[in-house]
Amino acid sequence: MEKNSCIFCRIIQGQLSSNIVWQDDSAIAIRDLNPQAPSHILVIPREHMSDITECKDSQILGSLFHKTSIVAAQEGLNKGFRIVVNTGSDGGQTVAHLHIHVLGGRAMSWPPG
Ligand code: 5GP
Ligand code: ZN
Repeated sequence: MEKNSCIFCRIIQGQLSSNIVWQDDSAIAIRDLNPQAPSHILVIPREHMSDITECKDSQILGSLFHKTSIVAAQEGLNKGFRIVVNTGSDGGQTVAHLHIHVLGGRAMSWPPG
């Protein structure tokens, strides 16, 4: 996808506003526009990758997961949280730029819908 037409690339480039809660040189964490829990944060690599299948670099993926726990701790989710990586149409992915959802602040149910 073109960087200009990718919502998350535009947020990362500062062309669209967002509520940034954490960032470093390779990723940002923003509050989801349509939160599904009291805390709903998206951890997004600055580099555009459409989904997890497009990322062959285990270091990038590993550090992205590590960042979710940093963000959850910052958010005070000491009772637990859920991380979700929707992938492709069956996975319910709606934005084609890799991201990890961090959901918390309420008890989650299982199985997911
Ligand atoms: P997906 O459905 O791809 O797993 O997750 C995409 C998420 O991005 C959705 O939860 C949706 O609410 C969120 N989202 C879509 N557009 C925007 C936006 O412009 N700003 C923010 N902060 N979140 C967005
Ligand atoms: Zn993008």
